[in-house]
Amino acid sequence: MSTNLNIRRTTDSKLSSVDFNNIPFGKVFSDHMFEADFDGEKWTNFQIKPLENLSIHPGNLAWHYGQSIFEGMKATKSIDGEPLLFRPEKHIQRLNASARRMCMPEFPAEVFDDAIHTLVALEKDWIPSTDGSALYIRPVMMAMDEALGVRASLTYKLLIFCLPVGPYYSKPVSLKAETKYVRAAEGGVGEAKTAGNYAASLYPAKLAIEAGYDQIMWMDAKEFKYVQEVGTMNIFFAFEDKIVTPAAGGTILRGITRDTIITILRSKGYTVEERPLHIDEIVEAYKEGKLKEVFGTGTAAVVSFVRKIAYQDIEMNFNVDDYNICKLAKSTIEGLRNLSIKDENDWVVPVRALEPVL
Ligand SMILES: *Cc1c(COP(=O)(O)O)cnc(C)c1O
Repeated sequence: MSTNLNIRRTTDSKLSSVDFNNIPFGKVFSDHMFEADFDGEKWTNFQIKPLENLSIHPGNLAWHYGQSIFEGMKATKSIDGEPLLFRPEKHIQRLNASARRMCMPEFPAEVFDDAIHTLVALEKDWIPSTDGSALYIRPVMMAMDEALGVRASLTYKLLIFCLPVGPYYSKPVSLKAETKYVRAAEGGVGEAKTAGNYAASLYPAKLAIEAGYDQIMWMDAKEFKYVQEVGTMNIFFAFEDKIVTPAAGGTILRGITRDTIITILRSKGYTVEERPLHIDEIVEAYKEGKLKEVFGTGTAAVVSFVRKIAYQDIEMNFNVDDYNICKLAKSTIEGLRNLSIKDENDWVVPVRALEPVL
């Protein structure tokens, strides 16, 4: 480890108070967090310390003008109990792509790597070992200048903290193809994992839920004809002879699970196309009985089964019990995450035991 990392351990671990068989998603936090500051010129002050509140000035630029980006990744345990990360380098690359778009400073990849390994090594007892469970890791970067006026902040903070999460027994979801509101337009910030994208989705999502759907399937912002993605998931359509997922051309989040699943399915002999996908193609295939499976993919849910899509007054219902490709994708990722399946792509990275933590 090369990073000059200051480590202060908790003297008051919350670990024994957690019921690992019943963890509500997003509400239980582990003991420690990583923190770093950008002083206007460079990232400094690398530290791991007990999770604690920040003191934030009312004029904090992130609150007013939204310079805030995040990541979501998971640590798991192998069947032998060894802590593992999954494609961590993809997450720092994407964090830095989000940073560039939001006019924020990139974070050094080596420091990120050292920080994640050290933090997870320190929190290894927080990684649940039941199938499908994980330690969810949340890096977040935000503006820290104390000033009003729309401009890029000079100072920033990066935090990384962890939450144990149980197996995501998600029910199959129903989706409303949205034809009034948009998530992302070409030239916008749809490809960045930035706070405002999620704030903007809340009101249309509320209307969709009131109308009886679980989530929105976002369509393109010009014609409302081309499928984009769902909530915090990318989307896949398995037709009789091929699998199609919308191309990542600036308006969808480049999901790492999406990339993983494309690679897995291709290696199993499926044809997977990344291209614009018109709603008429979906409706037509559905009517002809050629649309077999629809599923969403993301780090949190891994793979989520879609049971229904409504587009205007057309309702498409799917029999999720017959989903095979979707189940294969899910079980392969879960098998890789505990190394019960051989990792042929060098995706799985054992957590380095670091000297200050041992
Ligand atoms: C995070 C996210 C995804 C999924 O990305 P993964 O890297 O697979 O977790 C998809 N869409 C949106 C909008 C997201 O925020």
